[in-house]
Amino acid sequence: MKAEEIDDDTKLSEIKVIDDLRKKIEINNEAYDHDPNTNSNPPCSVIVAYVNGEKFKSGKIGYAYDTNSMPYVVLIPEAAGSGALAHEIGHVLNYTNSTGNKDDAEPDPTQPSHNVNPGNLMYHIGGDKISDVQCKKFRESTIILRP
Ligand SMILES: [Zn+2]
Repeated sequence: MKAEEIDDDTKLSEIKVIDDLRKKIEINNEAYDHDPNTNSNPPCSVIVAYVNGEKFKSGKIGYAYDTNSMPYVVLIPEAAGSGALAHEIGHVLNYTNSTGNKDDAEPDPTQPSHNVNPGNLMYHIGGDKISDVQCKKFRESTIILRP
């Protein structure tokens, strides 16, 4: 599937290769990396897939699917920069907040999953700034592994 074929209405189940991989990981705990430091297989928290193309059909440069369970899924067109990945991972960290609050720490009233401040990583057009309150909330994510 190409980026230009994916939009806001595209369901994860319609992207067969990702849906199959996600089910394989859920069912068999396969297809993820062994951690040589702990000699264990940590849970696969997020599947990041780069998709052929420059932008999605919607004009967006990233999607983070709130699957309500691991592994979460992030799609990025191959032409997008690293900021797009950082922004989408930010969404996943908010989706997995231990309090259940999936909004940004400083939500835009019209788009609560995005930050209200231009230039912020989680502004609807992602920038490169992260606030202290956002860092605190990101650390509340249940997918961050702790010793
Ligand atoms: Zn976003």
